[in-house]
Amino acid sequence: MNNKDLEKRDWGTVWHPCTQMKDHEQLPIIPIQSGRGVWLEDFDGNRYIDAISSWWVNIFGHANPRIGDAISRQANQLEHVLLAGFTHEPVVKLSERLAALTPDGLQHCFYAECGSAAVEIALKMSFHYWRNTGKPEKTRFINLSNSYHGETIGALSVGDVPLYKETYQPLLWQVHTVPSPDCYEKDADEDCEQHARRMFAHMEVALEQFADETCAVIVEPLVQCAGNMRMYHPVYLTLLREACDKYGVHLIADEIAVGFGRSGTLFACEQAEITPDFLCIGKGLTGGYLPLSVCITTDDVYQAFYDDYESLRGFLHSHSYTGNPLACAAANATLDIFESDDVIHNNRALAQHMAKALDRFHLHPHVADVRQTGMIAAIEIVKDKKTREPFPWQERRGLRVYQYALDHQALLRPLGNVIYLMPPYVISEDEIDLLAEVAWEGITLATTN
Ligand SMILES: *Cc1c(COP(=O)(O)O)cnc(C)c1O
Repeated sequence: MNNKDLEKRDWGTVWHPCTQMKDHEQLPIIPIQSGRGVWLEDFDGNRYIDAISSWWVNIFGHANPRIGDAISRQANQLEHVLLAGFTHEPVVKLSERLAALTPDGLQHCFYAECGSAAVEIALKMSFHYWRNTGKPEKTRFINLSNSYHGETIGALSVGDVPLYKETYQPLLWQVHTVPSPDCYEKDADEDCEQHARRMFAHMEVALEQFADETCAVIVEPLVQCAGNMRMYHPVYLTLLREACDKYGVHLIADEIAVGFGRSGTLFACEQAEITPDFLCIGKGLTGGYLPLSVCITTDDVYQAFYDDYESLRGFLHSHSYTGNPLACAAANATLDIFESDDVIHNNRALAQHMAKALDRFHLHPHVADVRQTGMIAAIEIVKDKKTREPFPWQERRGLRVYQYALDHQALLRPLGNVIYLMPPYVISEDEIDLLAEVAWEGITLATTN
C-alpha cells in the first residue's frame, strides 16, 4: 500500500474535520502508517515531526509503550461497563488522583468523551446548581472575546471565534462577551500584567451589571489556544476568582488545551493560585491515546444535587462511554509518567530551548510577535511589521507555511497566520531546532511576493 492508494479510498467516503474538502483537490491528504515518539511516518516513507501534538492531545509521543501496554492489559480484563450503578478500578483510581492533583477543593469527577462534552457538563451543572439553590433566574454566561470552548451547540455558544461560530449564530444562545486581556493587544507603554489589570475593568462592569442573571464566567486560563494562541497574564484569573466570589457567580476554567503541563505548570490555574468551581480537562489527559474528558467540581456544587430522588435535583446527564475503562487506564498510565519522569521540571528546559530557537523570529520582517507560555510558542505573521496589519486572510499565507513544512519533515499546521509549536514533551533539542529552521524558511517563503 502507498499514499496514493489510501488517499483514493479516503476521497469520497471520509469527511474530514475542520476542512473545506475541496482544498484536497490541490493538497493531498496524508495517510499515516505509524508513529514513534514525535515522528509520524506515511505510506511512502516520508517522516514528519508532530509539532502540534496532533491537535494538542499527544504529550508523551506516539506509540508510547507505557501507555499502549496499560491499554492492552485493560482491554484483556474489562473493556467497558456502564458507569451508572457500576464502577471499576481505573475510574476510581483516576478520580482519586485527579482530586489530589487539581487545585484544592476540586473533588467530584464527571466524565465524558470529548472536551466539548465536558464544557456542556460544566454549563449544565452550573445552571442546574443555581436552580437547585433557589436562583432559577440565573440562566446566562459571561465569556471572553476570542475564546474557544468546542463545537457542540452549547460550547459554541460560549465561544467567540467567528470562523467557527458565525454561521450557526441563529442556533446559539446569547452570551455576554467581555474583551479578552490578550497581551497582543496591550498598549506600547504597558506590560502584560498592567494590561490584564486594566482589561479586568470590563469584566467587573459585566459582573456588576449581569450577576443576577449569570450562572458562570467561562475562560481558558492563560492561553486562548484556538483563538490564535493569544496569551494573557495570570493576574487576570486571580482578579476573576475574587470577583466571581464577590458577585456570586461560578468560575469555569476550561483547561482542555492548557492542562497537563502545557502551560508550564500541571494546571494553568496554579499560576494564579485559584480554584475554579468547575475545571474541564481532556486532550492530554490520556496522553493522546483515547477520547476522555472530565468536568471536576467542588463539594459545594455536588451537595446542591445530593438529595432524595423525589426532589428531582439529580444531575441526570450521561454519555454511552462515560468513564470508559480503557480511556481511564490510558489516563492513569499518563499520570504515572508525570509522577515518575519529573515532566514539569524537564519541560522547563525544553521551553527555554524553544524560546532560544525562536528568538531570531523577533527580527523577521513579517513577524509581529513571538510569544510563549510553557510548552506553547507562537509566531504571528503579518503583512506590515510596524502597523501589525495582517495579510488578507484570503491569501492563506499560513497554509503555504504548512505545505512547505510538510515537504521538510514537519507537521506545522497553523491557525490562520499564526505558526506555533506545541510539541509532545518527548521532543529533543535538535528536533526543536529543526522545527525552528523549517518555520523560518517556510515563513520567509510564504511572506515574500
Ligand atoms: C479542543 C478544545 C475544546 C474542545 O474539545 P474537543 O475534545 O475537541 O471537543 C474545548 N476547549 C478548549 C480550550 C479546547 O482547546
